Amino acid sequence: MDKILLMLQLQATLNDATNGEDWRKGVTKNAKEINWKRCIYMECAEMIDSFAWKHWKNIDAAPDFANLQIEVVDVWHFVMSLAMEEYDRHMLGTIEDIALNVSQSEAYLGFESAKETFDTQSNIIAKVEDVMFIALDKEKFDIEKLIGEFFILAAMSGLNLESLYRLYVGKNILNRFRQDNGYKEGTYQKTWDGEEDNVVMKRIWEENGDIKPDMLYKEMAKIYFALHKS
Ligand code: MG
Ligand code: MG
Repeated sequence: MDKILLMLQLQATLNDATNGEDWRKGVTKNAKEINWKRCIYMECAEMIDSFAWKHWKNIDAAPDFANLQIEVVDVWHFVMSLAMEEYDRHMLGTIEDIALNVSQSEAYLGFESAKETFDTQSNIIAKVEDVMFIALDKEKFDIEKLIGEFFILAAMSGLNLESLYRLYVGKNILNRFRQDNGYKEGTYQKTWDGEEDNVVMKRIWEENGDIKPDMLYKEMAKIYFALHKS
């Protein structure tokens, strides 16, 4: 549950920074509509595109399982955002309540320590479509059901709580570090002594499996500024 709560907090911070404080009301600081459900089913489509599903093109191409997991993490960003919006809108409770409810669901218990193995292409695609169907249900949308089906899908995609957490937090911290160090302005150095920043980030994590997100950020800063003196 700690990891779920941590990811929700990181996502809330990311949404505040990217969209302004009113993202739970479905609008950005630039008055642009936010539609988390659309974000979810469009990223689900990208998940399906990790497979050679087209009957008329590249019919024998191997599945891109690494991309599949990246898209699962993309969907997770939006599932968490939607959950926070729903809980806020219907006054269902705080972020802590979401984490608690999530961690007591049956789907979560199966996902938490799932073996990191992939299900078949047809089973995974069928499950992706279940998630899309829930996101597109205008009559009786059910956030708990969406989260449950997401966890089943993540487990089928070779992930469990630990590996989803690492992929998600790694991407979140890397994005923040880049933004804080001139990514938008074009002054950020993506190559650190011959290695890409994400490779360095993964190694820090491999050397310390229990590292907290803030420490990960600090360790990255230490290495980055030793190499790129400003
Ligand atoms: Mg993609
Ligand atoms: Mg994507």
